[in-house]
Amino acid sequence: MKNISTDSQTMATLFHNVAARCATREALVADNARLTYAELDKRTDVLAQALQAQGVNKDTIIATLLLDGLAMVELSIATAKLGATLLTLNWRLAPAELSYIMSDASPQFYFVSTRFETLFNEAGGTEAYFIEEGDPQGALAPFDVNTNADANELNVEVSRNDRWYMLYTSGTTGRPKGCQHSQGGYFINVLSWMHQLGITEKDCVLEPFPLFHVNGFGTLLCGLIAGAKVVIPARDNSYEDSLRLSEREGVTIQPVMGEAFPYFTLLEKLQLQLKLRLLIVPGGAFPKEALEILAAGLNVDMRCMYGQTESGCWITMMSLEDQLAHIKSCGKVMPHLASRIVDDNGQEVACGEVGELLIKGETITMGYHNLPEATADTIVDGWLHTGDLFYQDEDGFLYIAGRKKELIKTGGENVYPAEVDSVLVSHPSIVDACVVGVPDPRWQEAVKACVVVAPDASLSREEIVAWCREHIAGYKRPRFIEFIDEIPRDFNGKAQRRVLAERETTPDQA
Ligand code: ATP
Ligand code: MG
Repeated sequence: MKNISTDSQTMATLFHNVAARCATREALVADNARLTYAELDKRTDVLAQALQAQGVNKDTIIATLLLDGLAMVELSIATAKLGATLLTLNWRLAPAELSYIMSDASPQFYFVSTRFETLFNEAGGTEAYFIEEGDPQGALAPFDVNTNADANELNVEVSRNDRWYMLYTSGTTGRPKGCQHSQGGYFINVLSWMHQLGITEKDCVLEPFPLFHVNGFGTLLCGLIAGAKVVIPARDNSYEDSLRLSEREGVTIQPVMGEAFPYFTLLEKLQLQLKLRLLIVPGGAFPKEALEILAAGLNVDMRCMYGQTESGCWITMMSLEDQLAHIKSCGKVMPHLASRIVDDNGQEVACGEVGELLIKGETITMGYHNLPEATADTIVDGWLHTGDLFYQDEDGFLYIAGRKKELIKTGGENVYPAEVDSVLVSHPSIVDACVVGVPDPRWQEAVKACVVVAPDASLSREEIVAWCREHIAGYKRPRFIEFIDEIPRDFNGKAQRRVLAERETTPDQA
């Protein structure tokens, strides 16, 4: 079955093309099912038709609160074929947070894993198609359909301007915002990322990251459009299970988080025959020692990246070799994006100077759902204001300095919280730290540090201040220090600075 498509630059076209190109190759191993590209294509044709029979059209939003697996993959393909919108919901959110997003987006249909039924109900959800964990019927399970019968024409014209994918930001700096992405934007994104990752149909991609998030979703799409085999492990797999699965399936590419080091120590112990050649590391740069272990011990390449929900995902990427030569950089801007680093007056800053990163290209968000003013503030003359501060070196490598909203202005100087955080955690008795700006009558803002001290250590405010004085300029040292048990972080490990800054505390002056 084909869409009647007047526009070739859509995700629908990419899914169609890979099915034709790689028909007999294995596409997906998930939920006790193994499917070839031809089978996945057929099933998603049937699913698209079943959804159409339920009234799904180009204005429809289909939300998922699903464990990673077959149903999620099938819904992403079926929505692309229908020109409808897929909204992926984060099942790690609390009911109140989820409820906000559900009422803001108002999807017409929900697909929910039975594991999340209580969460869904507590968030105010009522009707949904429920999917059992590990059900090889995937998203077709709720429908009475024959997967062997030929599906009819869908009769929809999918255009590159159709909204296809919607995802809410993490809500680090305020309420989460719904970023809308078009079929055409993702068409370019996926091709560009695939090229940068060098994925081909010979690869096997292990996808252990949540697919409700852009990092997991982006990796999945790269694998599926390249014609690679994508393997989705069961949610409760241990590191060891994942490594054994990796060996069995011949995994060549997989994403990991920075703290995945136990994983690699296990590798040595288990003596497995892995074909791993590339690690995808979303988020912050690795420490130099970790990079050296990867380069020398594992003989794999890696890609570090920086990105955001508004850009559809990755804006920069860099290889292990580049990373070793440019420690702490997050790479160069992708070839499909124009970029500028500007000061508060919109003037481009010189090399080495900090400014806000702006990017431009067809892949940036179509705008925030229901927020025309925030959209107009964020996208100006086609330039997406990332809200992130960067400087660039002479070779074009970018270094992140922090978020514009979190910059602390004190006595006419700028303090980047991340810089002070890293000085604090380099103290042997400090296990975690997070610096925020608090209002100050004299200095406009003052630096406040929330510090978690190691359980068996004791540390005074004076010692912390002395440590900072030794390592950074005096104006950057904390004026207030609060000892706390734990830094609040989101599921990606991002410190919730806003939560800490808003806490009602009256710490002693440092
Ligand atoms: P909100 O926009 O709702 O406040 P958020 O910005 O945390 O939330 P996301 O889009 O999930 O929501 O996160 C993108 C942000 O994460 C980036 O704008 C940047 O501040 C941060 N980030 C992404 N990659 C990196 C990286 N490699 N190093 C440091 N920070 C990063
Ligand atoms: Mg953001």
